[in-house]
Amino acid sequence: MSYIINEACISCGACADECPVECISEGDERYVINSDECVDCGSCAEVCPVDAPQQGE
Ligand code: SF4
Ligand code: SF4
Repeated sequence: MSYIINEACISCGACADECPVECISEGDERYVINSDECVDCGSCAEVCPVDAPQQGE
């Protein structure tokens, strides 16, 4: 399981600062989560102002 950042992302960077395993980085169109490293903690979803990180498969 991993979180996935959807198209609502406004690239504010808040989630990357909160991620305990530093698996969020700035991508071309939005921030992206490395699904191999994500530990499914939900911190990114808690701090995101637009609710872009969603729990994926
Ligand atoms: S769920 Fe946790 S580990 Fe996964 S990207 Fe979000 S903050 Fe990082
Ligand atoms: S906190 Fe939300 S809007 Fe900001 S970079 Fe992360 S996913 Fe995008």
